[in-house]
Amino acid sequence: SVKGQGKNNFIIFNKSIENKTLERRLLENALRKAIKKQEFYLEYQPKLNISTNEIIGMEALVRWNHPDLGTIPPVKFISLAESTGLIIPLGEWILRESCRQTKEWQEKGYPQLRVSVNVSVRQFEDPYFIEKIKRILHEIGLDPHWLEIELTESVFADLKHTVPILEGIRNLGIHISVDDFGTGYSSLSYIKHLPIDTLKVDQSFIKDVHLNHQSKAIVSAVIHLAETIGLNVIAEGIETLEHVEALSKDGLKFGQGYFYSRPLRCEAFEEFVTNNASL
Ligand code: C2E
Ligand code: MG
Ligand code: MG
Ligand code: MG
Repeated sequence: SVKGQGKNNFIIFNKSIENKTLERRLLENALRKAIKKQEFYLEYQPKLNISTNEIIGMEALVRWNHPDLGTIPPVKFISLAESTGLIIPLGEWILRESCRQTKEWQEKGYPQLRVSVNVSVRQFEDPYFIEKIKRILHEIGLDPHWLEIELTESVFADLKHTVPILEGIRNLGIHISVDDFGTGYSSLSYIKHLPIDTLKVDQSFIKDVHLNHQSKAIVSAVIHLAETIGLNVIAEGIETLEHVEALSKDGLKFGQGYFYSRPLRCEAFEEFVTNNASL
C-alpha cells in the first residue's frame, strides 16, 4: 500500500541520515579524544625571499597523527573542527605550540624567524581570542613581533565587526596576512582600509602563472596594488623554476612552495634553516 511504501521510504531516508550523523559523530568523538590525547603535531613550511633565497619565516601547518589511520591532513578535519567548535581548543593548542617552538628555536640560537599561524573565522570570532593570544605570548615569552596570523578573506565579510579585532591584534605587534588572496570576497578597493600587513596570493593563480595570461594579469595586479598601498605580497604554491622566474619578473619578493621546501617536521626544518644560513 501507499501507506506502507511511505513508511519504508521514511525508514530508508531516516537510515541514510542516521549513517551520516553516525559517521560525523564518530569522527567528532575521535577528534575530541585526539585533542585530549594530543595526537596533533605541526609541520613548518619555510617562506623565502625569492631573489636572495634567504628564509624569512615559516608557516605552521597542523597534522593529525591518528593511532590507527596514520597521518590525517587538515582538509580532512579542519572543517569538522570548525562546525563543532572544536577548532577553539585545537586552535589554541596550535597557537601555543607554534609560539613555543619558535621561542625554542630562538633560544637555541637559530636565526630569528616569524611564524605564521592559520586562524579560522570561528576562532577569530571568539570574544576571548585576543586575550588568549596575549596570554599565550606572555606565558611563552615570545615577542608578538615574531607572530603572524593568516586569515582568509571570509573574515572580511563583516568589516564593522572585523576591523576593530584586526586593530586589536595589530596593536599587540602581531602581523596579519590575508591567505588565499584573490579567491574570496575582498574587493581591491577596500583592502587599503584594512589594518593588515601582507597579501598571500592564492596558489591557484601561481600554478599557471607562467602559461596563462589571466593568472599572470591577476598576480601582476596584486603585486602592484600591494606595492602602491604599502603591503607585502607573498606567493604560495611555487612549485617550479618557471614559477619563480615569472614571479621575479613581476617584482615579487617573497614566496613559499614545494620548489623551496615541503612543510617539514621540526628536525628537518632545523636542518633546512642551518643549510640556508650557510648559503
Ligand atoms: P593554507 O593555509 O592555504 O596552506 C597552504 C597549503 O598548501 C598547505 O596544505 C601546504 O602544505 C600546501 N602547499 C604548500 N606549498 C605547496 C605547493 O607548492 N604546491 C601545492 N600543491 N601545495 C602546497 P595543508 O598543510 O594540507 O593545509 C591545507 C589547509 O588547511 C591550509 O591552507 C589551511 O587552510 C588549513 N590548515 C592547515 N593547518 C591549519 C591550522 O593549523 N589551523 C587552521 N585553522 N587551518 C589550517
Ligand atoms: Mg595559510
Ligand atoms: Mg593559502
Ligand atoms: Mg589554501
